Amino acid sequence: MTNIRFALSIDGQNVQAEESAWAINPATEQKIAEFPLASRQQLDEAVAAAKRAFVGWSVANISDRQELVKALGDAILENKEEFVQLLISEQGKGRAGAEWEIGGAIYWCHEIAKQSLEEEVVKREGDEEIVTRYTPIGVVGGITPWNFPLLLAIWKIAPALLAGNTMVLKPSPFTPLCTLRFGELANKILPPGVLNIVSGGNELGQWMTEHPDIGKISFTGSTSTGKRVMQSASVNLKRLTLELGGNDPAIVLPDADPKTIAKDLFWASFANSAQFCVACKRLYIHESIYDEVARELVAYAKTVKMGNGEDSSVDLGPLQNKMQYDKVKDLLQDCKDRGLNFLLGGDVESASGYFIPVTIIDNPPDDSRCVVEEAFGPVLPLLKYKDIDEAVARANDTEFGLAASVWGKDLTLAEKVARRIEAGTVWINHAHQFSPAIAFGGHKTSGLGIENSLHGLAEYSNMQTVLRKSHA
Ligand code: NAD
Repeated sequence: MTNIRFALSIDGQNVQAEESAWAINPATEQKIAEFPLASRQQLDEAVAAAKRAFVGWSVANISDRQELVKALGDAILENKEEFVQLLISEQGKGRAGAEWEIGGAIYWCHEIAKQSLEEEVVKREGDEEIVTRYTPIGVVGGITPWNFPLLLAIWKIAPALLAGNTMVLKPSPFTPLCTLRFGELANKILPPGVLNIVSGGNELGQWMTEHPDIGKISFTGSTSTGKRVMQSASVNLKRLTLELGGNDPAIVLPDADPKTIAKDLFWASFANSAQFCVACKRLYIHESIYDEVARELVAYAKTVKMGNGEDSSVDLGPLQNKMQYDKVKDLLQDCKDRGLNFLLGGDVESASGYFIPVTIIDNPPDDSRCVVEEAFGPVLPLLKYKDIDEAVARANDTEFGLAASVWGKDLTLAEKVARRIEAGTVWINHAHQFSPAIAFGGHKTSGLGIENSLHGLAEYSNMQTVLRKSHA
């Protein structure tokens, strides 16, 4: 593929930049393709095009916008296999994971296209009427990470455009290809300037957050970057949606059946090689079944194949980039330095590719780095607890509050526990169910605002109240 040159999408055109960089396949460390690094001037052009396009797009009939958002999903569907292969090579995930992500991107376009925000009549009495309605914000800036590059871009693009905004979106410099390819297809569908895709380094993200003509930033990434985004977005009081990091707990109650839940617990923790904001990252297990759960989990983990996603029998891929690979290796070294007990994995033996083996750590102290930090790699601490109040307190003892899960047969108890957890989403006896209709967002430092559902759609709108009276 190295001969394909990807392009920016600005004002409906495929555009090259003076500078470029290479996307790397994390399974082989080989170059995949060159992609453009947008200059500051090109960002200005993209924002100006989006601002011009806003004039017509914001007042178009919602049904026209719905049709075009659906057409974006159709375009991905028509090119599904190309996207799946591109995603495997740039992100590193296995085929099943890539199909799940691309299928999700199609589904989200199709489902969000059915949504709309109705006006609310607050009062209608005699000659007085009070109506609350939703108006688009203007140019929205989208900034996305490298773990689910296309799906998380669509989570922003579909509702932002449907609500009548225009957009400039920047993918992660580690995984720009699927999003740039999507931009090229969108150029054939949308009026010029409605959606602009610009790739570049972190400084491009910073320029977007400071840009005076961008009215809102919808950001998905780490909490530390999210804080910087919030700071620079204050320049013109940009609206913000921040989907940030997590250190999600799972609590296994004493009545859970270790054999039944081991497989689901594994995937809750290690799907996408644990490069998942909502991966279970701390697994609290009641002491009465701790050994059995640990045994079943390790036994299941041994059946899972890690490797190059181009081999269709592979379940788990490498970490996506060298930076994250080095970070997780450093975390493993810290576990070793502290003398922690590894039930599985721990030794990195990759000749090429950023592979970290599935690693399960036996009851480390609560202040270990592998418990306190978001690993964002396949390193899971199992933590023993005696009573449920203690488990809930330890689960909540974190700056994060993205998601959590509770596992047990007594559903009344499980739900009681779930409701005490400080997190935006809590699953009971499963994990990772998302939908265009289900609100998703973090508590505490895991974020600000909501994606998906009509609440998410409303975040791409201003509220306007119109109060009418006739002259007496
Ligand atoms: P990151 O914060 O390093 O980068 C995210 C994006 O921000 C990239 O496009 C990057 O180029 C850009 N960026 C970097 N510096 C910037 C700046 N100063 N201003 C504006 N933009 C800037 O995150 P990442 O490493 O790509 O992704 C991993 C993180 O994302 C993890 O913490 C994970 O939990 C989180 N995440 C959260 C969710 C969620 O929905 N809550 C989903 C996926 C990932």
